[in-house]
Amino acid sequence: MALKVYEKLEQGTDEWLQARCGIITASAIGQLIRKTAPDAVTVACPKCEAAAGDPCVSLARKTPVPIKTIHDERTLNTYDLPPVYRLDDGLTARRLLLTLAAERITQHVERIFPSRDMERGTLDEPYARAAYADAHKVTVQEIGFMVEDKWGFKLGYSPDGLVADDGLIEIKSRKPHVQVATVLEDEPPAENVAQIQTGLLVSGRSWLDYVSYAGGMHLYDTRILPDPAWQEALVSIGKEADALIEDIVSTYLKRIEGRPLTERIDHFPEMEITF
Ligand SMILES: [Zn+2]
Repeated sequence: MALKVYEKLEQGTDEWLQARCGIITASAIGQLIRKTAPDAVTVACPKCEAAAGDPCVSLARKTPVPIKTIHDERTLNTYDLPPVYRLDDGLTARRLLLTLAAERITQHVERIFPSRDMERGTLDEPYARAAYADAHKVTVQEIGFMVEDKWGFKLGYSPDGLVADDGLIEIKSRKPHVQVATVLEDEPPAENVAQIQTGLLVSGRSWLDYVSYAGGMHLYDTRILPDPAWQEALVSIGKEADALIEDIVSTYLKRIEGRPLTERIDHFPEMEITF
C-alpha cells in the first residue's frame, strides 16, 4: 500500500475518525514513548574495567567473577550519552494500547468531549494557517489524513497543511504564556517532538514548519528537519506497540468467544472530537 493520502477528508468528521480507527497516529505516539539514559551495560565500566556489553566483575576476588549488579560509576557514565527512547510501560501508554485494541475489535472510534483548549485550537487553526501563508507568501494545501505502512504496521498523520512539494506545517494554538516560553526557547516544546518527527516520517517530506499561534501576539514559526535517531526510535517503538495491540486483540477475541454481543447506543450524539 505504501503512503495512502486522504486528500478530501475533513478533519474531525466521522469519515476522518473512521480512517484513523485502530491506527497509531502522530498526535498519540508520544504517549507510548519514554526517554531514558542508555543501559549501563552498553558502556565500559570505569570501576572494574568491564568492556561495553560485558557484565561488571567482582573486585573482591583474585580471579574476576561476573556479578549481577552494575557498579554505580558505570551507571553515572551513561548520563552524558544521548538518551534512548523505549516503549513506555506506564498507565497512559497502556490506556492508549487498549483504546487502539478496542477500535480494532469494534471498528468504531469513541468521540471524546473536547476541552476548552481543544476547541480554541480548532477555532484558531484557520487564522494561524492564513497568517503563516501570508508571512511566507506560500499556499498551504489542507488535507485530511495520511497513512504509511512500509514498516509492517500502520502509522497515521493528520497534517495541518502541505507546503510546496516537500514541506508541511504543524499548527499549535497556544495560551499567551506558552507562546512566550516557545519564543524564549526558540524551539517546539519537548512534548511536540514525537508528533513532529512522526509527521515528517509518515509524509516523507523534507521539512516541517512548526507554527505557534496565540491570537493578538506575534506569529512564531521554526523549521524542523527529519531526525534519523528519532525516526528510527519511532519505527521500532511503533512496531513493538502494534504487535502488543494485536496480542491484546487476539487474546480478547479468544476469551470472549460465545458471549453475547450488545448493541452500541450513542447517548451523546452531539459531542464532537476536534483535534
Ligand atoms: Zn563494573
